[in-house]
Amino acid sequence: MADLSGGIDQVADGLSDRRKRHAELSELVEQANWRYYVLDSPTVSDAQYDTWMRELRELEDETPELRTPDSPTQKVGGAISTDFAAVEHLQRMESLDNAFDAEDLAGWQARTERLAEADPAPYLCELKIDGLAIAIVYEKGRLVRAATRGDGRTGEDVTPNVRTVRNVPERLTGDDVPDLIEVRGEVFLPVEGFHRLNEQIMDAGRQPFANPRNAAAGSLRQKDPRITAQRPLQMIVHGVGKWEGATPPRTQSETYERLRSFGLPVSDLYRVVGNLAEIQEFIGYYAEHRHDPAYEIDGVVVKIDRIEVQRQLGSTSKAPRWAIAYKYPPEEVTTELRDIQVGIGRTGRVTPFGVMKPVVVAGSTVERATLHNASEVVRKGVLIGDTVVLRKAGDVIPEIVGPVADLRDGTERAFVMPTHCPECGTELAYEREGDADLRCPNTRACPAQLRERIFFAAGRNAFDIEGLGYVAATALTQPLPPQEPPVRTEADLFDLTMDRLLPIRSIVRDQDTGLPKTDPETGEPKQVSFFATISGVPSKNAEKMLEQLEKAKSQPLWRVLVALSIRHIGPPTARALAAEFPSLDAIAAASEEELAAVEGIGSRVAATIVEWFSVDWHREIIDRWRAAGVRMADEPPTDQLPQTLTGLTFVVTGTLTAFTRDEASAAITSRGGKVASSVSKKTNYLLAGENAGSKYDKATKLAVPILDEPTFQTLLTEGPDAITPPTSEEPTP
Ligand code: NAD
Repeated sequence: MADLSGGIDQVADGLSDRRKRHAELSELVEQANWRYYVLDSPTVSDAQYDTWMRELRELEDETPELRTPDSPTQKVGGAISTDFAAVEHLQRMESLDNAFDAEDLAGWQARTERLAEADPAPYLCELKIDGLAIAIVYEKGRLVRAATRGDGRTGEDVTPNVRTVRNVPERLTGDDVPDLIEVRGEVFLPVEGFHRLNEQIMDAGRQPFANPRNAAAGSLRQKDPRITAQRPLQMIVHGVGKWEGATPPRTQSETYERLRSFGLPVSDLYRVVGNLAEIQEFIGYYAEHRHDPAYEIDGVVVKIDRIEVQRQLGSTSKAPRWAIAYKYPPEEVTTELRDIQVGIGRTGRVTPFGVMKPVVVAGSTVERATLHNASEVVRKGVLIGDTVVLRKAGDVIPEIVGPVADLRDGTERAFVMPTHCPECGTELAYEREGDADLRCPNTRACPAQLRERIFFAAGRNAFDIEGLGYVAATALTQPLPPQEPPVRTEADLFDLTMDRLLPIRSIVRDQDTGLPKTDPETGEPKQVSFFATISGVPSKNAEKMLEQLEKAKSQPLWRVLVALSIRHIGPPTARALAAEFPSLDAIAAASEEELAAVEGIGSRVAATIVEWFSVDWHREIIDRWRAAGVRMADEPPTDQLPQTLTGLTFVVTGTLTAFTRDEASAAITSRGGKVASSVSKKTNYLLAGENAGSKYDKATKLAVPILDEPTFQTLLTEGPDAITPPTSEEPTP
């Protein structure tokens, strides 16, 4: 008995704990809703919000009595501001249920099959635009009212503001327009417009918007519609509330085409599919191409296409059963900015970076993010101790977007740029007045700069020395008294011997920041003996590195050039130089004018090259490398390919499938063509792979012929006469 009553107590305790947690979470969600929907200034990330909502739902699944009608899980989130008149929607505006993985999606699809009287297929898949929901009423084809979603029944009257949105028609067109129609859609700011707007806001000394959604909501919900009118807002329609008069459509897709015929903006990027596998294919495609559309999306919405079946399924208190929003992993999270430190790069540039409480974003854990330079820290307005919005979009490096200023408690402090190099103690300076970047002027001996240069020289775009990664570069360059580093400038690189390497110990440094890593047990900087095993014999890495160094001596001229870390000389410029000059000596002897005559090299770069070769210790690098046997001239190939591309200049961009960009460039130069780094009127062809960006746009603008990969292959094998490339036409989406 005693046990049993204990059990009851525990159950009661469990229940009261759950009740308490439910109340806490509801409070958090309500507050977040207020900040998000009314103030347009959220203080938590969507990811955090979704986690709270998920936990609430789980609690309610365990204890259904917690699922009261006023629980946030049962309501359309959002209150309305007193800045606007309240307006009743003609038809309730709903939210959408979410799916976060394939299992959730399959569960939804199975439910639709179970609940519908008819086969729920086909399904319409479309993009979930990250904007704010709007309902617009047209009477006899005239726009009479526009309102935000609010709590779903009552919204805010934003009619004058919506009238300023350029692609929202004031009058509907066509003979078939219903007498009364309420359309629903998303108002958003295209990504480009968002960046432009933020620049203007920052120029005016105000805090920028954290993301396009907040910017769109903040822009539309302005008391003064003249401000809204200045914002490049757009709308896309994705549903209908009320439809009176004129034959109503029978499917969602027909609805879209009818709305389009009335002159309303409808997305082109929807697809009607037959089954779950095809839904998943659509979701998979846009997971990969999430940044292709001009606006931000946070998922895919799947809807049952037939309206009849939509009606059969109906809605829950909050969302239709006939639709589901599949959400992609969040690209924005919030985290604590614990410190701002600086790293010293290959060219001495001092780069502040944020050290954050580790957080998972877009699938990886992020702890640091660059802040570029001191003025960027000021521009972003971040203080040490702030909660910050961190963004990582796809493969793009993580970025601190800005602070959540409303969460400050007064303990935050401003970052102060150090005056001296943290690694060599030299006073930091700007090279020229007006430069954005502070630099460490101790180019030759600063261990940080040398380490970064050696790492870079060994990288895939330069000597390509396997075994010489960041740890090895650190070990080779780090003074650890009384130990002298074996590499004091890159001149020493090819003189390394195993005897020199074996005694070297090194502090392990973080590749992103250059800061020493600490041993978790001792708290001291972590040290390794990279080139010898514990028993003192050469490590495999050491052997490999020496072997690869030997091989690197016969790399082509352009790679040698890149390895020298001359500012602005990356692989494309180096290739252009190597195609024009027979040897490193010839480049060293060339005048500024001769260098500037090379495609892709302007006078500034030419001056940098001349200046670089005039420095004594730079010349010493070349002499010592030459003495060690590094080849510094390209030998003319014995089995030369037919020079079919002589006189033609190419630019290569985007991701290719059959080649790396380097390989494509080599294929061009080995046939006598030139490869430039930027598109100009002199460019004969742009070779564009997947995700080609601004170069593609520029080529289109300048009517430079654009080659896809198969056409390029034909050109390589059969020569330029075999292809008729498309010219300046706009790409079809
Ligand atoms: P939702 O954003 O998950 O989905 C519903 C909305 O999607 C609809 O109202 C509609 O406007 C929009 N939508 C976009 N494209 C659509 C399309 N093609 N078809 C149909 N609808 C489309 O749900 P919600 O209730 O609007 O908002 C909840 C979400 O908002 C949360 O998951 C969270 O991401 C965010 N939120 C964040 C905070 C915060 O503090 N960060 C607070 C509240 C809400």
